[in-house]
Amino acid sequence: MLSDLLDHELLLVRRGARSGAYTIIAVHSTSLGPALGGCRLTTYAHPGEAVADALRLAEGMTLKAAVAGVELGGGKGVVCVEPGTPLTTETRQAMLLDFGDAVESLGGRYITAEDVGTSPADMRLIATRTEHLVGLPEDLGGLGDPSPFTALGVLAAMRACVEHRFGTAGLTDRRVAVVGVGHVGEALARMLAAEGAHVIVSDVDESKRALADELDGASWMSPEEAMRSRVDVLAPCALGGVLDETTVPQLEAGIVCGAANNQLAHDALAEDLARRGIDYAPDFVTNAGGLMRVAAELDGADGKGARERIADIEALMRRILTEAAGLGITPLAAAHALAERRLDAPVTVA
Ligand code: NAD
Repeated sequence: MLSDLLDHELLLVRRGARSGAYTIIAVHSTSLGPALGGCRLTTYAHPGEAVADALRLAEGMTLKAAVAGVELGGGKGVVCVEPGTPLTTETRQAMLLDFGDAVESLGGRYITAEDVGTSPADMRLIATRTEHLVGLPEDLGGLGDPSPFTALGVLAAMRACVEHRFGTAGLTDRRVAVVGVGHVGEALARMLAAEGAHVIVSDVDESKRALADELDGASWMSPEEAMRSRVDVLAPCALGGVLDETTVPQLEAGIVCGAANNQLAHDALAEDLARRGIDYAPDFVTNAGGLMRVAAELDGADGKGARERIADIEALMRRILTEAAGLGITPLAAAHALAERRLDAPVTVA
């Protein structure tokens, strides 16, 4: 129910003057700073689903920023494409301009960026309507696509998980299934292969099979097979909700550590994973690298410092796993507790 999700400071829903599409902005919290979150442009069966998605994703951003020690709040933007709407260049541009106007109307309380369905080039168009955005192409003073930095953070979290489970942080010869090899997943698969891991490459898009052919020690599987494969690490890097009552009992992985937002269909599944002896790395911890990178862009930094901060995700993940083991709680509960402590006592980040 929508009301179950409402723990937010602000929800803006408007029909775009140009496109007629619903543009939605959810601001969950600004207690650590302005709410940052990408703009998702995708098809929803019903605008209510788009609103629910924005609310859920905005809350995730609050947790992510808090746990990562970034002075930002949590928000999310959604452009709801209704089924059957032909997404021509003109329609898409009208939607993005409408979304830019919605962002501008909030006067900086919400800062947008790219997300599923939008790109740095789209940020260029949105920038004609508002200055409250990050992830601009380099020629406009931005730091470009944050996805490789998100992948770097997932890799750092994975090292900590592997060390926690197997006693050594090295990824050489580990079997890792990357399910969804888009912007983040492809970068992650390449990094893993470079470290000598045996990568299973998987995607609904068959053309991505070429990546498996290209990478040393890599193989290809369908997403259904890859999700059930006997691997050291399963890295979900497509859309959310992949871990549910059906898939969790079928998992054969020791660790789940991927980039996708909202991997768990609901939080209680973290308990089911723990009961099955599977170490689950909370997604809002593993995928904070992109946020750290865009935070550096907001600070006017050149991004070099962001790399060091992203490497610290390894220590953060280690801390969460150790606290969880010590308290006999799930890593998800430990990560929530850490985020909540930081939200109660905002940290000053150097
Ligand atoms: P993307 O759209 O570039 O890639 C997603 C890939 O998943 C595509 O190749 C798509 O074909 C594939 N896919 C879709 N459904 C699938 C399925 N059922 N099984 C297997 N593959 C499937 O997206 P992205 O930017 O790489 O982001 C991936 C995930 O990581 C998303 O959940 C996103 O919210 C999250 N994330 C991304 C970033 C970032 O910096 N891009 C940051 C934080 C979180």
